[in-house]
Amino acid sequence: ADTLLQVSDLTLHYRTRRGTARAVDGVSFDLRRNEALVVLGESGSGKSSLAKALMRLLPRNIERFSGQVMLGDMDIMQLGDEAFRKQVQWNRMALVMQAAMNALNPVVRVGEQVAEPLRVHRGWSKDRAMERVAETFRKVGVSTDFLQRYPFELSGGMRQRVVLAMALVTEPDVVILDEPTSALDVLTQASIMNVLKRIKREEGTSFILITHDVATSSELADRVALMYAGQIVEISDARDFFHYPAHPYSQMLMDSVPRLHQAEAPGYIPGEPPDLIDPPTGCRFADRCPSRFSKCSQDPPAFSPDERRRVRCWLHEDEVARGS
Ligand code: ATP
Ligand code: MG
Repeated sequence: ADTLLQVSDLTLHYRTRRGTARAVDGVSFDLRRNEALVVLGESGSGKSSLAKALMRLLPRNIERFSGQVMLGDMDIMQLGDEAFRKQVQWNRMALVMQAAMNALNPVVRVGEQVAEPLRVHRGWSKDRAMERVAETFRKVGVSTDFLQRYPFELSGGMRQRVVLAMALVTEPDVVILDEPTSALDVLTQASIMNVLKRIKREEGTSFILITHDVATSSELADRVALMYAGQIVEISDARDFFHYPAHPYSQMLMDSVPRLHQAEAPGYIPGEPPDLIDPPTGCRFADRCPSRFSKCSQDPPAFSPDERRRVRCWLHEDEVARGS
């Protein structure tokens, strides 16, 4: 396959007063060209930390930051900060941060803000940059009349399209979106998802879409990765994940999604996710897992070797060993 990004054993640990918080703990996945990978996971599972690790947008209290991230044939983890900023950030990978639409500068016209990556990272003239910005506004469905407006003059949906434009304006290969629609109403969410689908189709962009909203993400997803306590527990083709989730946690998550015309109440997942500071030695989901057996609390399961669907669960390891 045409692999664009290959992430191996990515790790981001924070130093905290209570100890080391293992927010991203050995994450591996790959992203193909023109693919949308949806990263699901409940609050605190490490989704935003994963995005920040990929973009090297790190807080100061880092205990450990390691792993390999191949972008094409370059390991971007090996780049110095300056080279990373020049070669990777914005130019090849862009991030729409969680709640970015509320972080727009209130006193700068939105057109100018979207032009900033081109002006700062590429040194483009104002005219040249504004021309590209206008083009990008059209792509994300914002009227070019809005170029001169200030953020407060725009609706939430329009502001979200503006931050999307800011990520797309440099035409990066990979766009990471951290909860891009969670603050918006259902209809606005749907129209933003449609914009993303169209851009993926027309521009061939690859997306990593981080969300805890299973329903909205299902339309864009080619593959799904589910995070739990700093690790990916399943990564599968989207259709497989949504119809036949493999990991017990994936199954419980899918059962908890409310559906229209559903007779019985949606299930919920009892218990709490483990503390990232002192996670269990065995499977991190074992305490909440209805299918656990003795091994689960003792030894950490590795990913099953299947290419199409990889599951971090002893049940699936056994299947492979038995050859079923
Ligand atoms: P949400 O769905 O709520 O956005 P998330 O999956 O994005 O959650 P993260 O923001 O990546 O989760 O946080 C993962 C864990 O790391 C949480 O326990 C969080 O409290 C912790 N954490 C995040 N940033 C820091 C930091 N700078 N220092 C210490 N701990 C942090
Ligand atoms: Mg987050």
